[in-house]
Amino acid sequence: MTFQEMKFPKEIYSHLISLGISKPSPIQSQALPVVLKRRDMLGISYTGSGKTLAFALPAVLFAIEAEMRLHFNFRKKESPFALLLAPSRELAVQTQEVVQHLICSLCGPGEKYEETKEEEGEKISPSPSKQPISHCSSSHSIPRSKSCPSAASHSRFPMIYSLALYGGTSVADQYRYIKNNGAHVIVATPGRLVDMLRRKYLTLSGCRFLCLDEADRLLDPNYESDIRSILSFCHVSRQLVLFSATMPIHIRSFAKHSLTNPIIVNV
Ligand code: AMP
Repeated sequence: MTFQEMKFPKEIYSHLISLGISKPSPIQSQALPVVLKRRDMLGISYTGSGKTLAFALPAVLFAIEAEMRLHFNFRKKESPFALLLAPSRELAVQTQEVVQHLICSLCGPGEKYEETKEEEGEKISPSPSKQPISHCSSSHSIPRSKSCPSAASHSRFPMIYSLALYGGTSVADQYRYIKNNGAHVIVATPGRLVDMLRRKYLTLSGCRFLCLDEADRLLDPNYESDIRSILSFCHVSRQLVLFSATMPIHIRSFAKHSLTNPIIVNV
């Protein structure tokens, strides 16, 4: 399927062209229509295949739709609509950049957000001050014009917010961000996410879209109990999408028990 046949908002085409992307990669061509139809899916694809767009784009579009339909940001500030899990901080950072750029191209630039490092024993103020945020200028000091060349100036979509949660960054900042803005899309590594859920800084009661990127790594024995715990926090009718480079027995077994009538995409 071509991008045109997928009938995205026109801002998406400009954004993809600004990235030099003119036609879908094989995984995008097969996975995007399945994910956009809100089906559970097991995608088998290698790193570098373009899989990030195949889950980040639906996550952003679904979150905007939820915000427009449900005023999600006001009603369920403490829960994201979409959760994208990554097995490492590096992958979470890369995914968050893709998400931020998509949001920026659809909803316009936000304000600037500076991330700070976690401090030992840091406390969270009961009345957090307003914490500005940016979708275009991430915490990695990319100049705004370079990081989001296709920023929407007069957006027809409501602003939505995304946040990356991983260890080594300030829990207090992340809590304030969620309190002040809500986070429609969260990209997280399992450890920090479980920590925030247990502290009740966040819930997943409104989460309807969950993606496990590099599921073979996420479901290794180090993370598996965290993943099961995260799933138990999610709404029962959530859409679950797995991307994995390999199909070891533990992935098959997890998929069998956790996915509902899944479509398998193997490129
Ligand atoms: P990923 O596998 O998602 O990490 O993507 C690997 C690289 O491929 C990234 O630099 C993407 O910007 C790029 N990419 C993603 N989709 C496409 C596409 N359809 N055509 C060309 N490059 C792409």
